[in-house]
Amino acid sequence: MEHVDCVVIGAGVVGLAVARALAERGLETLILEAEHQIGCGTSSRNSEVIHAGLYYRPGSLKATLCRRGRELLYAYCASRGVPHRRCGKFIVATDAAQTEALERLLALGRRNGVKDLVPIDAAAASRAEPALRCAAALHSPSTGIVDSHALMLALQGDFERAGGLIAFDAPVTGGSAGPQGLMLQVGGAEPMRLHAGRVVNCAGLQAQAVAASIEGLPAAAVPGCFYAKGSYFSLAGRAPFTRLIYPVPEPGGLGVHLTLDLGGQARFGPDVEWVDRIDYRVQPQRAQAFYAAIRRYWPALPDGALLPGYAGIRPKLQPAGGAEADFLIQGAEVHGVAGLTNLFGIESPGLTAALAIGERVAAQI
Ligand SMILES: Cc1cc2nc3c(=O)[nH]c(=O)nc-3n(C[C@H](O)[C@H](O)[C@H](O)COP(=O)(O)OP(=O)(O)OC[C@H]3O[C@@H](n4cnc5c(N)ncnc54)[C@H](O)[C@@H]3O)c2cc1C
Repeated sequence: MEHVDCVVIGAGVVGLAVARALAERGLETLILEAEHQIGCGTSSRNSEVIHAGLYYRPGSLKATLCRRGRELLYAYCASRGVPHRRCGKFIVATDAAQTEALERLLALGRRNGVKDLVPIDAAAASRAEPALRCAAALHSPSTGIVDSHALMLALQGDFERAGGLIAFDAPVTGGSAGPQGLMLQVGGAEPMRLHAGRVVNCAGLQAQAVAASIEGLPAAAVPGCFYAKGSYFSLAGRAPFTRLIYPVPEPGGLGVHLTLDLGGQARFGPDVEWVDRIDYRVQPQRAQAFYAAIRRYWPALPDGALLPGYAGIRPKLQPAGGAEADFLIQGAEVHGVAGLTNLFGIESPGLTAALAIGERVAAQI
C-alpha cells in the first residue's frame, strides 16, 4: 500500500489553498479529486466577490478568516497576476425602514475591523451611481472581485512547484482510522488503497459524506448538511453600475445583489432555495422574484433583460430558519481521530477566506 504524508480531499479553492500551504511547508502532499479537473464544485459557482468581512459574528471563524483571507488574497492576486479589481460596493437601504439595518451593519462591520466603511446619503449614492435608487447606502471600498478560476490555477501552480501532486478521477469512497494515521479507499479508473499520516477533508458539499465513510470517526462528530441553492440571472446589455450593489441581507444569504465580472458583465443573484439534492439547473420562472427584488434599487430594469445564468449550492450546517452557523474546522481534539481535519460548512465567504483557511490548517498540522 502506498504511503503519503498528507492527503487533501477535494481540489476546490479551499482544498487547493490548504494543499499549497502544506506543500510549501515541505510536507509531501497529494490531492485526491473526484472530478477530472480542479474547481468543478462550489468554487466555480459563486459570485467571485472578495468580501470585506462586515457581516459575520465578531470573533467567529467567518469574521476572522474573511478579514485575514481578504488581505492575503489581494496581495496574492497582485503578486501572481491573478485578475481582480477592488471595485467597492454599495449596500443599499431601499426605504427608510431599512436604514436601521444599515446602521446595524455599519456597527457590526466596525466591530469586525472593517474600518473603511462610509455611510452615504441618497443624493451622494445617486451622484456616484446615477441608475441607483435608495434611501441611504453604505460604501465598502475594500470589497472587490476576482477571477476565481485564475486564482485556482495559480494555487495549483504553486502547489505543484512545491512538489505536490493531484490525482484526478480519484474519489475517496471510504477509509478507516488507526493509530498510525488513516487508510483511504480511492475509487475511479484506478482504484487503490492509500495510507496517509494526515488527511484534510475539503470535499465541500460532500464533506459530511466523506467523513461519515471513515470507520473510527464517531458518527456524532459529523454535523448535518443542508443545501441552500442560489440561482443567478445575467443581464442582457450593459451593466448600469460601476460598483457591486447589495440590498440589506436576507435570511440564508446576502440578498439578490448585482455583481460584475472582470469583463464588466453584470449578473444578479444568488437567491435562496432550500433543496435536498444537487441540481444546478436554473428555473426560468424564478426570474419573477428577481425583477421585483432588483427594481427596488434599480427601477429602470427593462422587462426581458434577465437571462437564466448558473447556480451554486451553499453547504449549510443549519436548516432553513436556523441560526447562521460558523465555519467548522474540526480536528482530533473534537473527534479523537489523530491526523484527520474536517472542514464543514465552508460556504460564503469561503472564496475570500481560502488562503487564511490554508494558513490556519497548515499551522495546526
Ligand atoms: C451561490 C454561492 C455564492 C458564493 N459567493 C461567494 C463570494 O462571492 N465570495 C466568497 O468569498 N465566497 C462565496 N461563496 C462561497 C465559496 O464559493 C465557497 O466557500 C468555496 O468555493 C468552497 O470551496 P471548497 O473548496 O470548500 O468546495 P468546492 O469548490 O465545492 O470543492 C470541493 C471539491 O471536493 C471534491 N470532492 C467531493 N467529494 C469528493 C470525494 N469523495 N473524493 C474526492 N474529491 C471529492 C469535489 O469534486 C470538489 O472539487 C459562494 C457560495 C455559493 C454557493
